Amino acid sequence: MSHLLPSLVESFDRLGAHLGIELMVCRDDLLPFPLAGNKVRKISAELAALVTTPDLLVTNGAIYSNHCRTLAVMAAQQGIPTHLVLHGNVNDASAKSALKLFHDLGAGFTVVAPGRIATALLEASETASSEGKASHVIPGGCHTAAGAIAYRDAANEALAKCQPDYVILASGTGATQGGIAASACGGPSRVVGVSVARQAQPGREAVLDAAFWAGAPPDINIDFRDSHVDGGYGHHGEATERAVRLGWAYGLPLDPTYTGKAFAGLLSMVRSGEIRKGEKVLFWHTGGLANYLVSVGDKN
Ligand SMILES: *Cc1c(COP(=O)(O)O)cnc(C)c1O
Repeated sequence: MSHLLPSLVESFDRLGAHLGIELMVCRDDLLPFPLAGNKVRKISAELAALVTTPDLLVTNGAIYSNHCRTLAVMAAQQGIPTHLVLHGNVNDASAKSALKLFHDLGAGFTVVAPGRIATALLEASETASSEGKASHVIPGGCHTAAGAIAYRDAANEALAKCQPDYVILASGTGATQGGIAASACGGPSRVVGVSVARQAQPGREAVLDAAFWAGAPPDINIDFRDSHVDGGYGHHGEATERAVRLGWAYGLPLDPTYTGKAFAGLLSMVRSGEIRKGEKVLFWHTGGLANYLVSVGDKN
């Protein structure tokens, strides 16, 4: 199914003129799916690659995880029972609406302490197998080969359309950047992943793994920057907030957990002169609208 998802590339002329660059945006936030984002490509590819439909899907993520939300919607559409191992503070005002969504989608979930995630995942698949059911465990964030390959294919299409000097995106577990980097490898476009949480070295290694899965050569250059994590996953400060406000003021919907950090990275590359006047930048929009909508009043 994933190869059927379009790569919609739009130009943002007014915001581009404001920044002195040619700004294009790949709208994965507009994939035909509720609360769309990069998890739609990754998870649909992961499910399409399964040889048989499992009796249970198991995965983990934060209460506000777009990965868990997207999986729960797809599993509901396909009628596959799902168990989510979640972590985070259930007492936040916005946690209730996040959990209500999982409940309404019919996904089973438990909220555990971060140190218990691995055990809880194991328990969920052991319980299933003791009942004679086959479970499929998807790594957090859908950090899988199928996910990386889906992004390589999407980037093949998008890069052919607009041939940018730079591709800039929010990078977390790394399969999105790895796939795009595999596609761009050997070509003129430079791919810059702006970390939303991880430090440079472990983050870069995860992206490198994903690039290999998508067929990149071992000497591929991975540009993964941790200069805009701005307090870490689920936290942000004034720099991210300013980037989010600037985006919305030009009709580009950004969020403080992912895309706002990536756009703050883009802004500082423009400010420093690393991106020169008139260069063509493809901002790969990875979603995050749900994160924006719960961002007022708490730190997420
Ligand atoms: C998950 C997510 C990312 C990070 O994608 P990775 O493939 O894990 O690096 C970026 N942006 C949004 C909105 C996400 O939900």
